[in-house]
Amino acid sequence: MKISSPMEAWKYLPGTNCKECGEKTCLAFASLLLERKKKLEECPLLFEPKYAEKGKKLAEMLAPEVREVEVGIGDKAIKIGGEDIMHRHELTFFNRTALAYDVWDTMKEEELRERVREITNWRKFYVGEFLGVDAIAVRSVSGEAKTFAQCVKRVAEETDLPLVLCSFDTKQVEQGLKEVSDRNPLIYAATEDNWKAFLELAMRYEVPVTLFSADLDMLNTLAVTFSSAGVTNIVLDPGTYPTGKGLEETFSRFIRIRRAGIVDGNKGIAYPLMSVPMTAWLVNGNETGAKAENTLETSYWEAILADLFILKYADIMILHSIEPHSLIPERTLVANIYTDPRRPVSVEPGLREVGTPTAGESPLFVTTNFALTYYTVESDLASNKIDSYLMVVDGEGMGVESAVAGGQLNAETMKDALESFDVERKVKHKIMVIPGLAARLSGETEDVTGWTVLVGPRDSGRIPGWMENNWPPETFS
Ligand code: SF4
Repeated sequence: MKISSPMEAWKYLPGTNCKECGEKTCLAFASLLLERKKKLEECPLLFEPKYAEKGKKLAEMLAPEVREVEVGIGDKAIKIGGEDIMHRHELTFFNRTALAYDVWDTMKEEELRERVREITNWRKFYVGEFLGVDAIAVRSVSGEAKTFAQCVKRVAEETDLPLVLCSFDTKQVEQGLKEVSDRNPLIYAATEDNWKAFLELAMRYEVPVTLFSADLDMLNTLAVTFSSAGVTNIVLDPGTYPTGKGLEETFSRFIRIRRAGIVDGNKGIAYPLMSVPMTAWLVNGNETGAKAENTLETSYWEAILADLFILKYADIMILHSIEPHSLIPERTLVANIYTDPRRPVSVEPGLREVGTPTAGESPLFVTTNFALTYYTVESDLASNKIDSYLMVVDGEGMGVESAVAGGQLNAETMKDALESFDVERKVKHKIMVIPGLAARLSGETEDVTGWTVLVGPRDSGRIPGWMENNWPPETFS
């Protein structure tokens, strides 16, 4: 039985409210357990003989449907899998798809190091956070164990990102592992031909392992064989065919595996999934990636494949193109899918300064604390060098239009914001500019706050034009 409410989890806790877990009550702890914000280990009583049986049951009932696998170490380690649902709106996805970009062992040393640095340092600011990439996949192209090991060593010297060691030859993988086994890399990939040697490697070095087969029965058999031998940090690659019928069948395999794990409760195949969109280069480039023609079409197609499998249901993927037109949509889609739909992405309400505003002259704009709205307005003001104040009203994480409709943005909440952010102390002219989408609040807001209200544009991108016609207001002259 899967636990779905805090009350159900609470029944298995000691119930002493001893606070040793840092929470005031066992019920509060139970609620955080379900959110995965607390771990069972944080309740020490559960490991005493008196409660151990209940603790064991609780652990089983809280375990995610899809096994969670960790790759890498330290604060760069990634968790993949660990999901409980098929569709995001049913609860939330917990671990976002990890994006691993490739390097290969026939690259010249300087070229290799440069690409690793580029992948490691890639950043894109988006809705209040810097997006980055998650891992580096080191591919064997030379076919030589020594060359592969040297490449792995150089990559490890340049990055602290988790690594995926890619070769079907266990001798090569082992030489690579000798360089980085203490970094908990993911090894790739065991097949029906080489699985014994891979199983041995995974056991000896205690690292997560990818199993590869486009035949789902074979994949299931491999997974059961590995888990029976005690290797449960497993990732499944059911093959990514980049075009045509093969692509259609690939898509179907991903859905069937995830459905079997979550809906049918088939634990034998409930592991994180790997997709390899860089197979797009097998069609349009040469298979090494090293000298592939970096055609726009191919990198676009790779991005389309990536986006398809970010949606359904890749937990980790190996990609080649690091051009912005591939990387940005891939990483942005991951950021959008893997937010918690129960909580709008929001920023702290408050009074912000954009540029260097002056108390008696600079405009005071109003917006809500939905992160996308806030960062759009803030960026439109900053990029147009409009020195101003920005009052961010608590709209419970909603955008302006929804907050007006839902009553979270109204004359009273604007009055509360003016008072709690002590706006009058900073802004001396008592004129506020509300968003055009909140125009109908202008009269009431003037009555309730005693401030003069100007109605700004509906779209913050039009603020510069609005400023030309409306600011400074006539009352200033
Ligand atoms: S440590 Fe355990 S028993 Fe104590 S309050 Fe937390 S959950 Fe309850």
